[in-house]
Amino acid sequence: MRAFTLLALSSVAVATILPARPSPSPSELIGFSPSAARVEREWEAKFDAIPSPDSQRAYMRHLTARPHHVGSLYDKANAEWILAHFTSWGLDAHIERFDVLFPTPRERVLELVSPTRFRATLQEPAVPGDPTSSQRADQLPTYNAYSDDGDVTAPLVYVNYGLPADYDELARHGVSVKGAIAIARYGASWRGVKPMVAAEHGAVGCIIYSDPRDDGYAQGDVFPKGPFRPRDGVQRGSAMLMQLYPGDPLTPGVGATPAAKRLARADAPTITKIPVLPISYGDAEPLLAALGGPVVPGPWRGALGITYHMGPGPARVHLLVKSNWDIAPVYDVIATIPGSVEPDQWVVRGNHHDAWVNGAEDPTAGQVALMEEARALGGLLKDGWRPRRTIIYAAWDGEEPMLLGSTEWVEEHADELRQKAVAYLNSDTNERGYLEMDGSPSLQPFINGVAKDVEDPETHLSVWKRLQMARIRGAGSNDERRHLRQSDDLTLGELGSGSDFSAFLDHIGIATLNLGYGGESDGGEYHSVYDDFYWYTHFGDTAFVYGRALSQTAGTAVMRLADAEVLPYDFKTLASTVQGYVTDLQNLLKSEQDETAERNREIEEGTYAATSDPWHPTIAPPEQAVPPHLSFAPLQNGADSLTRSAERYASAVAVMRDRGDTAYANAARSRLNALLVQTARRLTDGRGLPGRPWYTNELYAPGMYTGYGAKTMPAVREAIEQRKFSEADEAMRTVGGVLSAEAALVDSAAAALR
Ligand SMILES: [Zn+2]
Repeated sequence: MRAFTLLALSSVAVATILPARPSPSPSELIGFSPSAARVEREWEAKFDAIPSPDSQRAYMRHLTARPHHVGSLYDKANAEWILAHFTSWGLDAHIERFDVLFPTPRERVLELVSPTRFRATLQEPAVPGDPTSSQRADQLPTYNAYSDDGDVTAPLVYVNYGLPADYDELARHGVSVKGAIAIARYGASWRGVKPMVAAEHGAVGCIIYSDPRDDGYAQGDVFPKGPFRPRDGVQRGSAMLMQLYPGDPLTPGVGATPAAKRLARADAPTITKIPVLPISYGDAEPLLAALGGPVVPGPWRGALGITYHMGPGPARVHLLVKSNWDIAPVYDVIATIPGSVEPDQWVVRGNHHDAWVNGAEDPTAGQVALMEEARALGGLLKDGWRPRRTIIYAAWDGEEPMLLGSTEWVEEHADELRQKAVAYLNSDTNERGYLEMDGSPSLQPFINGVAKDVEDPETHLSVWKRLQMARIRGAGSNDERRHLRQSDDLTLGELGSGSDFSAFLDHIGIATLNLGYGGESDGGEYHSVYDDFYWYTHFGDTAFVYGRALSQTAGTAVMRLADAEVLPYDFKTLASTVQGYVTDLQNLLKSEQDETAERNREIEEGTYAATSDPWHPTIAPPEQAVPPHLSFAPLQNGADSLTRSAERYASAVAVMRDRGDTAYANAARSRLNALLVQTARRLTDGRGLPGRPWYTNELYAPGMYTGYGAKTMPAVREAIEQRKFSEADEAMRTVGGVLSAEAALVDSAAAALR
């Protein structure tokens, strides 16, 4: 369900400055002895030659031939088709089924009732030449899944992106959404945040529309002439409050099996509090044009040919949303390759197969890359390759409604995953362009090494080199450019939520990577009927060469993780990343203190200017208490212990490297890997984050007000942001404790290595 943006290129480039690592020689592989590395390289070369763009095109044609959302005929048929392929390639595969709450639209009405009348079409028309866009009978209508039922008529208020700062701006103009229907545009945060914040401010309904500024004609030609969102294109999507927990709303924390105890729907906290409906800009324009009230500030203006006003009214709107609240089956396809030496260590690789409609780019482009990996590994098995560890390939169902298939599977297998999981590698959408690599810092040198060995289909440089050049181009300063040129590693982006990695990373604490290509074939097809084979083969990765690159990247990573004699985690990167998070938090508190003091002074002097708009006088906010000093000592002590332990482990690894083959063999026979496999779990606290116990990872969680976007050290960061300072102090003790425990475990690993 991910949407790629080029923004990610620059935002992750502001990296923690890492000390240079002694570069391994080109033939060296992290975690492999020299002789094991030679054998691994030979198998990888065989693997690399197998994934085929033509096969990926053929799989996509089949999988996207009909709409295949959860509960549809074609969803099940696709799962069975993928299963048959896994089996034919010699893999031991089966389908695991869960039964989950999955609402589909029963009634949807949106109309302007005054001062003029207009009824929204809520329809995406078929496009001539695009054969699957006309499959109306099988298409899921446009809606936001897990919207509460409701029937409301109220004045309309335009709330920009619908984030807390937007409501502050409305308040400065004396505009409130209490008792009103909020209309927000898509973008700037995950969609589920918009109805949540609207409800917090007293709105009775929420409409989300796609402004042409963001993915329509302001970006380029619209479909079918170009790739961008046409006038009647609608972004479907889940509005579930997944910041509390993703997956089936009725079975938090346990797999949705027949035996599972289920909540009553009325008690499920992840269903929205108010009705919400997504619409096209064709349907939004008459509503927005009928608004009065203050003219919006510059950054709020979209690309429609109207003057944007805030309201409230005089536009009054009738919004009716009712769903069929059915229980639907989800079908996860699971294939296992047993490990030959350490079968109780698992490398898990997944991509979802369900879509909102035909879903070519999201998710089939990623799914067909995964299938080619599975076919290639099946080929290696026939030639005698035996991975050291167990590999599990998963085609997840129900990702779009909110990570249903992966979350239920992880919850069902939680105990085993806690003991055995080495890493989870996810992909989802895939396009033309640059490698996107996000994930756990302990895997940063490892995946950088993989990226240096994969060739970019356009430039024939490595995909790593191409990404480095893009980041240098996007860098904000000379220092940053110099650092990017000199460092061995490109920094991984941080993961919050938004795809199937969430339960692995956020709930269990498993080292995670999310991989994909993108940035050169952006469009406005996301979650619409137009994300189909026609769109993808005209505007996406049309030659499927980035599909092959994804197979090579993820497949090579799976093989290396499964075959390494010593698990290739890097704790120096983890420690320096953690040190960076601590500094970020100190800076955050300091800037909150400085800004609050400054604002209070201006309010007292009467010089406070909330906006730079001289035409519309604004209302000054009340003064706020300046945030107190907090004790960062537990965090700093924990981070420093981890830094020292990481140094000790790195020295032990260096000694092993110097000693060569026998030293690796001895390490592999020791309990070292059993200790290492627990290092990611040690960063969790079983009590969970404040108010959301499902999230146990103390380093990463989706933000309550950003959705997919990650918050690092979330318990501390969100407490400071939300001005709950005694909670922040408490959270720093918790996170400090987790870091100290991690340091102790890394020390044990260093001792085992010696
Ligand atoms: Zn997806």
